[in-house]
Amino acid sequence: MESVRVVRVPILPLGMVNCHLLVGPQGCVLVDAGLPGSEKKVRRVLRQQGLDYADIKLIVITHAHIDHAGAARKLAKLSGAPIVAHAGDLDYYQQKKRMTFCTTGWVSRVFLRTGLILRPYAPFTPNVLLQDGQALDLRPYGLPGHVRHTPGHTAGSISIELEGGDAMVGDLLASGVMLGGLMRTSHARRPPFEDDPHQVADELQRLVDGGMQRFYLGHGGPLPATEVLRHAQVLRSLPKQAAGHCCAQH
Ligand SMILES: [Zn+2]
Ligand SMILES: [Zn+2]
Repeated sequence: MESVRVVRVPILPLGMVNCHLLVGPQGCVLVDAGLPGSEKKVRRVLRQQGLDYADIKLIVITHAHIDHAGAARKLAKLSGAPIVAHAGDLDYYQQKKRMTFCTTGWVSRVFLRTGLILRPYAPFTPNVLLQDGQALDLRPYGLPGHVRHTPGHTAGSISIELEGGDAMVGDLLASGVMLGGLMRTSHARRPPFEDDPHQVADELQRLVDGGMQRFYLGHGGPLPATEVLRHAQVLRSLPKQAAGHCCAQH
């Protein structure tokens, strides 16, 4: 199978919020849908690749935060592509429950106070709902790789592993300052919210052990495996919190 191009879709400038298109010889897969209203930004990048909405074969939503799932329903309608996501975040995709947010620093506490991340978005039910331990082969969608459950940022976070060593990991980690985009973009850091850093460390280790070399992120990136491992070590050094301790319901 020919190689896959990873194309960044800037939802906000400077890498602050990214989606990705995985362009293979038989169409493409969209990874994350961006904030509500992002469909035109996705289309602009599709056009640059000589593609249009109809060429999207699958939409993978890495987790239920609004900057990743906000335009999912719209993009599914425009493309006719099915959405794959994990059951752990289903209540949030369906907008049945409000999410919990474990802030990781002062920037995220300020961000949370703005209310932007708490806004509702168009609810949807994923066409393919992964359960714990279940993976989805991407070959039927033209890509050599799979989607699998990588919990920790949220309970239902998923990642894509491509055979060439490229991984799309959503918000398992970020880079740079202020939502990833400005300065220090090659330096891994925690995303603004993170449910369980120790679980994230385990998943990052598993991804690297599985042969992943380049990590594409929702905020900042991409990062090499060496930097991902350094970050996993930092996460392991954090104190273990009682389950749910850090998560404030808003
Ligand atoms: Zn997130
Ligand atoms: Zn995010």
